[in-house]
Amino acid sequence: MLVTMKEILDRAKKEGYGVTAPNVQSEDTVRAVIHVAEELRVPMIIDVNAFIHPDLPWFVHMIRELVSTSSVPFAINLDHGKSYEDIMLGIRSGFTSIMVDRSSLPYEENVKQTKEVVKMCKPLGISVEAELGHVGQGENYSVDGTSNLTEPEMAARFIKETGVDCLAVAIGTAHGRYKGTPHIDFERLEQIVKACPDTPLVLHGGSGTGNENLAKAVRNGIQKVNLATELVVAGKEELEKFIQDPNFDKWKLIPSFIKGYEDRLAHYVKLFGQEGKAWTE
Ligand SMILES: [Zn+2]
Repeated sequence: MLVTMKEILDRAKKEGYGVTAPNVQSEDTVRAVIHVAEELRVPMIIDVNAFIHPDLPWFVHMIRELVSTSSVPFAINLDHGKSYEDIMLGIRSGFTSIMVDRSSLPYEENVKQTKEVVKMCKPLGISVEAELGHVGQGENYSVDGTSNLTEPEMAARFIKETGVDCLAVAIGTAHGRYKGTPHIDFERLEQIVKACPDTPLVLHGGSGTGNENLAKAVRNGIQKVNLATELVVAGKEELEKFIQDPNFDKWKLIPSFIKGYEDRLAHYVKLFGQEGKAWTE
């Protein structure tokens, strides 16, 4: 069934578990996510980047069709809406949630543009995620990892001023593959949770951050963990193993990739205490 991201994250915050937000690229990965969610009875957030499909309204329509007949709750979130055009396309495509990423702009401009998106989305029942501080790229981790981290008091002010439903915070994670060892600022996370007691928090750059760090982040107040790179890499590794056999069955090529993707996603569902948390209408 299709629900808003706000409903999924508010429940997760109240009950103290984390929600996996896998990034999908194709019908196969969408079905993989649904398969894992149904097997483990979990509410799931499907993250979709605007650039991932040449016909985004069609892709989201397909996802809506597939999840609406499922017995577990799903939200469909536009990941990193970078422009006004992305946001409008996202609304038209039928997302139940939109991330407006203005984290590389100065604070006042981030507030102004995020507020406009909230104003558009709220009447339509679409949840809004924004980002304060900036989660950079793993390849620049030596610089990005320690700069532009989220200031707790500023986060509280930002939420009040914009009315967002959840907030992505920068506490030392990075997108893609890390160059170096991730260091998570748990003290900062604790202060953010204290300053923003009613708002679910999002962690971008879950891939490669490590089981211990991610489990601890979820225990300490993160409700949504975005996963992209690591799921694809796990799929690729499974595929590479599969094609080592020169007589491999060509029909099982994509399923071998999907097996790696699914196994890694299931691993995180269990790690975040999400298993069995699906509810029915
Ligand atoms: Zn991200």
